[in-house]
Amino acid sequence: MSKQVRVRFAPSPTGALHIGGVRTALFNYLFAKKHNGVFYLRIEDTDQTRFVPGAEAYIMEALEWLGISPDETVGKNEKFGPYRQSERKDLYKIYADQLINSGWAYFAFDTPETLTSLRNEQEAQGKTFIYNHTNREILDTSLVISAEETAKRIANGEHYVIRFKTPVDETLHLKDIIRGDVKFETSLLDDKVLFKSDGMPTYHLANIVDDHLMETSHVIRGEEWLPSMPLHVLLYRAFGWDAPEFAHLPLILKPSGKGKLSKRDGEIGGFPVFPLEWNGLKGFREEGHLPESLVNFLAMIGWNDGTEKEHFSLEELSQVFDLSRVHKAGARFDIEKAKSVNHYY
Ligand code: GLU
Repeated sequence: MSKQVRVRFAPSPTGALHIGGVRTALFNYLFAKKHNGVFYLRIEDTDQTRFVPGAEAYIMEALEWLGISPDETVGKNEKFGPYRQSERKDLYKIYADQLINSGWAYFAFDTPETLTSLRNEQEAQGKTFIYNHTNREILDTSLVISAEETAKRIANGEHYVIRFKTPVDETLHLKDIIRGDVKFETSLLDDKVLFKSDGMPTYHLANIVDDHLMETSHVIRGEEWLPSMPLHVLLYRAFGWDAPEFAHLPLILKPSGKGKLSKRDGEIGGFPVFPLEWNGLKGFREEGHLPESLVNFLAMIGWNDGTEKEHFSLEELSQVFDLSRVHKAGARFDIEKAKSVNHYY
């Protein structure tokens, strides 16, 4: 690998870390160790409505218990920090303005009520409402009103958001380390909100600004973010920045193979879904499991080293881990496998 590997785990502190999140953190950690890189922790807390007190501390404690502590973390970094996005909000506004000035973004004044009625109207005609070029002429944005009028409305305190101006009708051919070639049509994308009326950036803007400024080389995250990849790549392009490489990890599925495992599952076949106790629900630690067993189990679902070997220490995993051996299909929470890797210790 030619450039310095810098990867991050970027959770939103919206609750406890469930084992899917732990696995994302683990794969980032292993990738960094394998390539003599840096693994850092960034707290993505710009959505104030979903903020849960105690979640950040829980995440840090869980990573420490598992032995996958970040090399750089909240409060510890001079060059790239602060690593808590709520402490960086002025910065994101500067970048949002930059996109406005270069014509890649615009101000939008539509209220949720007008958008709902427009959606209903179009659905009644059998159409799907998309907030993009197909409707730009009728939406209340700085693309159709004058610069003076826009400035006046903002000065008068009218609520606005800043939206990305998605290119019309382009096919994006992108590469994902796990998925291979992926194709997206920009005509199907909404002009996503980048900056909200509460003065906070959305996840999308803050995430890519930070990945750029923090010199992230590889974005390794859950597959639920694959649909955001085209927007992120377009944002890098709009800023004139090189995009990092992307690797989207398959979700952890329920033991039946049907449906995604979620925090609401509480427990699966006698196993917890959390590393540590959360809101009265026991975690692996309280159930008496060793952190090494959880690490081993999570590495072994959806990945193998190409041999029959099933028991690895963290140290061994750090030497052999390879993203190209992560399976493309969803990783089933296999209860028998969980039991066997657990017995090893
Ligand atoms: N904050 C996002 C999450 O909680 C991170 C997604 C990403 O890694 O880009 O899942």
